[in-house]
Amino acid sequence: MSTQKINLSSLKGKIIAIDGPAGSGKSTTSKMLAERLGYTYLDTGAMYRALTYFALKNSISPADGDKLSTVAKNIPIEFKQVNEKNHIFINGEDVTADIRSRDVTKNASEVAAHKGVREAMVKRQKEIGKQGSIVAEGRDTTTVVFPHADIKIYLTASVKDRAQRRFLELIKSGVSTTVEEIEADITRRDEFDSNREHSPLMKSHDAIIVDTSNMTIEGQVDHIVSLMRSILK
Ligand code: C5P
Repeated sequence: MSTQKINLSSLKGKIIAIDGPAGSGKSTTSKMLAERLGYTYLDTGAMYRALTYFALKNSISPADGDKLSTVAKNIPIEFKQVNEKNHIFINGEDVTADIRSRDVTKNASEVAAHKGVREAMVKRQKEIGKQGSIVAEGRDTTTVVFPHADIKIYLTASVKDRAQRRFLELIKSGVSTTVEEIEADITRRDEFDSNREHSPLMKSHDAIIVDTSNMTIEGQVDHIVSLMRSILK
């Protein structure tokens, strides 16, 4: 297992885009990959979650596309490092933990489906990507946000594996839930994200599929690094 930061000049300044369904291991893999490469990690899902958190807190309905689109354009969302971890702030308030609540998770797909919301968020994401040296993950980073990314990965795994992983993660962080509940949530979100009209979750024609069902997180990161080495040499 290679935990050393990689210092190959051919791997500098690139854009790595990673998409996939809920619970496919995108976040952990992308975070670790960014760390190894010394890249910025862009969690696009956290942005939709932050908007959802703000909406729920301010009694804005997840169905109100017009209002949400206006908020999405103006909401002061910022990523900052806190103790070397990626944190997300709204208007200076650290909402990193709040955006993982069950309520936010349940409503994020509906909020993220509005055209105006997507346009506003994608614009911000492209802006962040201009600096290069970025690992971006989400549902449309390989298709809409960074269609010219240097490496495009589609991470996937069976629903059962994804539910089991998420279950262990949540239990570890003190959330009480069941595998069945998570499996139902994942299935519902996959369906919603894949069938929405604007920027649905889909595999980009030039993305490399990585099935993570039998891989550890370290194994996933190693695999992507070796793909990078062979593609970008
Ligand atoms: O990846 P995560 O589960 O944190 O994303 C939360 C929600 O945000 C997803 O269920 C999905 O509906 C939405 N999302 C999206 N496009 C992205 C990232 C996330 O629609 N690029």
